[in-house]
Amino acid sequence: MLDRTYRVGFPTRGSLLGTAEIAALTGLIDSGAPLTSGAHRDRFEKRFREHVGTAHAMSVTSGTVALELAIHLLDLRPGDEVIVTPQTYQATIAPLLDFDAEVTFCDVEPDTLNMDPAVLETLVSDRTAAVMLVHYGGCPAEMDRITAAAHEHGAIVVEDCAHALGASRHGRRPGALADIGCFSFHNSKNLTTLGEGGMITFDRDDWALRLERLRSNNVDGVFGPAVPAEPPALLPWMKFADEVYSHSYTEILRAGTNATMSEAAAAVGSVQLDRLPELSARRRDIAHRLDEALAQSAADVRPHRAPPGTEHAYHLYTFFVDSGPLERERLVKSLDRRGIEVQLRYFPLHLTPEWRARGHRAGECPVAEGSWFDRHVNLPCHPGLTDAQLDHLAEVLHAELSGERVFQSSQPIS
Ligand SMILES: *Cc1c(COP(=O)(O)O)cnc(C)c1O
Repeated sequence: MLDRTYRVGFPTRGSLLGTAEIAALTGLIDSGAPLTSGAHRDRFEKRFREHVGTAHAMSVTSGTVALELAIHLLDLRPGDEVIVTPQTYQATIAPLLDFDAEVTFCDVEPDTLNMDPAVLETLVSDRTAAVMLVHYGGCPAEMDRITAAAHEHGAIVVEDCAHALGASRHGRRPGALADIGCFSFHNSKNLTTLGEGGMITFDRDDWALRLERLRSNNVDGVFGPAVPAEPPALLPWMKFADEVYSHSYTEILRAGTNATMSEAAAAVGSVQLDRLPELSARRRDIAHRLDEALAQSAADVRPHRAPPGTEHAYHLYTFFVDSGPLERERLVKSLDRRGIEVQLRYFPLHLTPEWRARGHRAGECPVAEGSWFDRHVNLPCHPGLTDAQLDHLAEVLHAELSGERVFQSSQPIS
């Protein structure tokens, strides 16, 4: 696509921020309270675990870090298999590049682009240590079948919920539908903690202890004067009359990292969570309007629909052009010319250079390949769209799909 400003474009920010967020930041600065590891983080995590419905929600600095730390919890051993979706952003599975695990790509469903449980059932075995999937675009995946298949073989299921805040499935939230949920509050996402941030949700208490260490430099032990049973040879300046080794020290168990969410980010996160129903409602209204424009068209197009009993968070608005790649390409060019930005998310990951270098090839996931190369389209859908922009988008879409101009044009693609 051309590098230019669109009349209806993908967002500069995925969420809206206003006076409530500013008030939270002003309050924090004026309070003189610490700017890290404080009450705002505790509050945001408490609110988040109540929202998702898990025993634990632990904040980190990004969705990528959430996924990395989740993969640490899997305790992968050489030869373990991890089954993943190819239809996601690279960060979902990129941390696996550094592990000795064998990665198998599981194809997706043609209507949702979520991991296909029927394919997973043919792949999963006792070698499978974990299954990693995304709720594509904010549409909840078929988690009942997926977790049943994985758990039968003792595999842990990780949900990448970067798109799915605001979604639900039979009244339950993504992040609580499997073993570990990873969220992103990046600038582009449905909720943001000032540009970067992430959260990990789960129920296991032993994971909470491990994550607490992993996200704070893997420091173990109690801060404060320590009294070793066998005091090390003390330097003279460390010695006190009573022979107590009175300088505090801490022990680092293994390499960890500092992934602590700042108080400013957490303060804004809590406000954003309060606003989530309103932000999600706007995304749904936009999506329904676009669905209507598609439904009125004579062209061979299908909306991306959440299955019955599920609520779609519409991080992405997706539809499918079933009349062939040339028609899809013509439509994309034509929308672009009329000021509508179109994106295609995501290039099938088994075909990116890093995974091809590990032996993955075209043909492994025909549905994901067919969708990206031939069928699917992502349109702008975010709460920052004005009513005028939405009207323009719906009108252009309707005109392009109902007119003869797109589907019977014999003009070459310019
Ligand atoms: C945005 C995103 C991530 C990464 O999150 P960051 O917060 O940007 O690190 C991971 N997976 C998916 C599907 C995403 O969309």
